[in-house]
Amino acid sequence: MVQAARPKPRPFGTPRGRRAEHLPPDQRRRSNPGRPRYAGGVDSERPVLALDVDGVVSLFGFQDSADGAPGRFHLINGMAHCIPEGIGERLRRLADHYEIIWATGWEDRANERLPAILDLPGELPFLTFDGNARFGTAHWKIEAIDRFAGERPLAWVDDCLDDTCHDWAEARSAPTLLVRTEPDRGLLDNHVESLLRWVRAGYTA
Ligand SMILES: [Mg+2]
Repeated sequence: MVQAARPKPRPFGTPRGRRAEHLPPDQRRRSNPGRPRYAGGVDSERPVLALDVDGVVSLFGFQDSADGAPGRFHLINGMAHCIPEGIGERLRRLADHYEIIWATGWEDRANERLPAILDLPGELPFLTFDGNARFGTAHWKIEAIDRFAGERPLAWVDDCLDDTCHDWAEARSAPTLLVRTEPDRGLLDNHVESLLRWVRAGYTA
């Protein structure tokens, strides 16, 4: 399901370099470990794409049928994660238009294996949640996403968007697009098309 929050008629431009002001001190330190960063990771001119992992990149809840799982399994920190081949290509298409950030309870651990599995150019910026992460919900991500995005246009892809998330999106002054995935199917081509169409159309659904 794709649902857009209607933007209010107000300028949303963000000065270059403002992004760092939205990061708490501990995140600034942890998100800049001196290793190669994802290309465009400091580009505040592009809209933000806040990306969940479980139910978007790593699938669950699918039928264990004779046809097999919807993707290959990868062992990450001792757990098997089903990540379809097409997810990486879809993210690379989106990276041409968005600054993609991890918005997942995985926090910095999302950068340990996923960029290599998804064949991304490098690590992505990530959000931290002060121990508030709860599997099966998403509203605890709002504060960190809001702080990072500031007044920039934002798309948020997650399998657990609830009324609190939609109310927050409606209230944002900057254009906001919420894209909900099905946890057993994850990020699909139609989601990518919706996300690209939204940017090309000047942030209108
Ligand atoms: Mg999820």
